[in-house]
Amino acid sequence: MTTSHEVRLKQRPVGMPTAADFEMATVEVRPPAEGEVQVKNLYMSVDPYMRGRMIDRPSYVPPFELGAALQGGAVGEVVASGADGFKPGDIVSSMYGWREAFTAKAEHLQKIETHGLPVQAFLGVAGMPGLTAYVGLTRVAEMKAGDIVFVSAAAGAVGQVACQVARLKGCTVIGSAGGPEKTAFLREIGVDQVIDYKAEPDLKAALRRAAPKGIDVYFENVGGAHLEAALDSARPNGRFAICGMISIYNDERPEPGPPNLALIIGKRLRLQGFIVSDNFDLAPQFVAELSGWIKSGQFHYRETVDEGIAAAPGAFLKLFTGENIGKMLVKLA
Ligand code: NDP
Repeated sequence: MTTSHEVRLKQRPVGMPTAADFEMATVEVRPPAEGEVQVKNLYMSVDPYMRGRMIDRPSYVPPFELGAALQGGAVGEVVASGADGFKPGDIVSSMYGWREAFTAKAEHLQKIETHGLPVQAFLGVAGMPGLTAYVGLTRVAEMKAGDIVFVSAAAGAVGQVACQVARLKGCTVIGSAGGPEKTAFLREIGVDQVIDYKAEPDLKAALRRAAPKGIDVYFENVGGAHLEAALDSARPNGRFAICGMISIYNDERPEPGPPNLALIIGKRLRLQGFIVSDNFDLAPQFVAELSGWIKSGQFHYRETVDEGIAAAPGAFLKLFTGENIGKMLVKLA
């Protein structure tokens, strides 16, 4: 038996979550039976969509159960195996995050082919968030070279990839993020025009300045005033990949939608929501392209890493206070 600490949902958050909504527990992890694998987690992911799973309501993923370990992306190392195809030392990804170690059926694990990238990249740039950016731009928004592309939450896990995929595919990129450290990072990764939305509260004016000719593609991560500004600056036949709306995830009563929604009609805009997990078929193509860009020095990324399982709830909260640059991770071992 191995001892593991795990984070459980103690109560459903109301508004902005707090540390009191989570609790730590200690469990014994049994050795693997036939067809099972025991894994020591190295890194776990915290992601904005987890806030939705803390609410008891029908959605595309079931809500988290109270009193049970939370779920989420993790990468770990196999320590014992009762399953063909898995041996100690193998690196695997799973949805058994928020815990230090676990034993699970082999079919719930994916072996990682690292392509020379660090393992935690498979929770960030080379994992779900990176693929989200790629899918949103290439498949949903049908981005093409020469497009003017606006990305919100541009310095985050998804945003940093969206900005660079757009740049590397020949587009002009405008990125919005909160604060000077984030806008400096956006300039470093080649974003053409940056908006610090905290310093420029008139977002419509800021986007008109940054994109005087308008935008063809909007990669939506935030909602609210960002969506309103993007509608205002959209060129005819613009395409919006509606990825997330983090500005309303903690609202008990979200504000009504932007007052200029009717612009969709006259400008013939297409707004399309998407879920990355419907598009995993693009992952091999994306990872091959990305690893080439990283190796050739054309693509750079950041991670914000907190340490230890006890830090996980606080790391999750940082997504909503904007304290992360790039992918927010928790290092577990
Ligand atoms: P990030 O790494 O971008 O972290 C969240 C960031 O959102 C913060 O750093 C902060 O950046 C910004 N933010 C938080 N609150 C607000 C607010 N009230 N107004 C404006 N900005 C805010 O997270 P991810 O990259 O993991 O996720 C980005 C978006 O993509 C989310 O909306 C998420 O739900 C969505 N998503 C959707 C997927 C899908 O399949 N559709 C899959 C994965 C993610 P700043 O300091 O710049 O404000």
